[in-house]
Amino acid sequence: MSYEPISVFDIFKIGVGPSSSHTLGPWRAAQRFLQTLQSRNLLFEVKDVKVLLYGSLAKTGIGHGTDIAVQLGLSGDDPVTIDITHIQPKINDIAAMNRLVLSGLHEIEFDPREDIEFLVSEKLPFHPNALSFLATLKNDEAIAETYYSIGGGFVVKEGESVTGRVQAQLPFPVNTSDDLLHWCIKTGLSIHEIVLENENTWRPEQQTRDGLLDIWRVMKECMYNGCHAEGTLPGGLNVRRRAAGLNKKLLHGITYSDSSTWVDAIKGGGNGFNYILDWVSCFALAVNEQNASFGRVVTAPTNGAAGVIPAVLQYFLLFGEGSGSEEDRIIRFLLTSAEMGSIFKKGATISAAMGGCQAEIGVSSAMAAAALTEGMGGSQRQAMMAAEIAMEHHLGMTCDPIGGLVQVPCIERNTMGAIKAITASQLAMQSTPDFAKVSLDAVIKTMWDTAQDMSQKYKETADGGLAINVPLSLPEC
Ligand code: SF4
Repeated sequence: MSYEPISVFDIFKIGVGPSSSHTLGPWRAAQRFLQTLQSRNLLFEVKDVKVLLYGSLAKTGIGHGTDIAVQLGLSGDDPVTIDITHIQPKINDIAAMNRLVLSGLHEIEFDPREDIEFLVSEKLPFHPNALSFLATLKNDEAIAETYYSIGGGFVVKEGESVTGRVQAQLPFPVNTSDDLLHWCIKTGLSIHEIVLENENTWRPEQQTRDGLLDIWRVMKECMYNGCHAEGTLPGGLNVRRRAAGLNKKLLHGITYSDSSTWVDAIKGGGNGFNYILDWVSCFALAVNEQNASFGRVVTAPTNGAAGVIPAVLQYFLLFGEGSGSEEDRIIRFLLTSAEMGSIFKKGATISAAMGGCQAEIGVSSAMAAAALTEGMGGSQRQAMMAAEIAMEHHLGMTCDPIGGLVQVPCIERNTMGAIKAITASQLAMQSTPDFAKVSLDAVIKTMWDTAQDMSQKYKETADGGLAINVPLSLPEC
């Protein structure tokens, strides 16, 4: 069977907001272009560089920080390690001096207003998120490469296979949820065990476990930081941050000193329905407010939808039931949710420019629903049923970010994705999968069919929906 091997660390990537496809992907593309120049010993021969943005990257690139991402990538910064407080000063410096230091080594003239072109009426056929880098060398030779940001921070170069990764012989190859179920039945393993066996092909198990705990550390830090940052989000829409106010209100003046005592304080506040509901919203708001302000986030499976998984996982740890140590619960949750994300990527898309918001919030909700169900003791089939339910009720959801910013409706939408994941899980736990009318594979196919029928206006172009019906001067809805 031919399959695309996707690791849990392809689905969960530490990076910088606000968008995996429009920020992280173009950033990675710029880094890869630098690698080309360096591998050919041409870096110091470069006279100037131009960046051309096509399709959705051109239409919503300003709001999504695509121009900032390519400048940082060309400067040799990495989204995982960059000090996020240095981002804006660096961008301001490039604009003020009209100079950019390629890979931190070779200074060239670079005027972002002229050298980054937003070709809003041009689109390349392979994918709506396309960008080209054109370097002119001192001898006037031109070096050009085109990349596609295909969603979730994944990038492919023109002519390269979409799978990118060297084909690994996984013990349990999976393309569809039927494949996954087949392996679960054949081996008696749970979903997270199947995924872990596959991950062992790439690295020792301890490394996977440590990497996943690191992913959770960044997710948790992001929630904590978002719950303690006040003010207005950047971009001109004047969206007021809400997580910090909600955090204060829900804690009623209880004091804490760090993220671990903060979590204890939340847990000590009870388990009433509204209390829990408010916290799930607060966690999701916090992450996506951080994401909107170029904060450090984990792509899950995209940045726009980065709040759903942390919110549901934090809910599970604080208010849910499940066996095993906290570390084991975190690792299992992330493994199972990543597998769901990868099945959606293989059978449909996780790119809003291809499938609208069903591909972002819908997929993250399905991922969280399955992981929560398995974590709470549900069977593999109930976990898949939960993912199916979560996606079924996101089908057709459009992407229409106001002002091209990942703020409205994006931030609130993460709260909805998280709550739907919890409800879907509850429903699946109370149901018998034998009686389900819609399989997970059927809903994935339906999502893909819907994506193809969806008007281009609703695929991350800011040409339709809320993006055209809400004046930019309006405050937060
Ligand atoms: S509307 Fe949805 S898909 Fe579009 S940018 Fe916002 S979160 Fe992403």
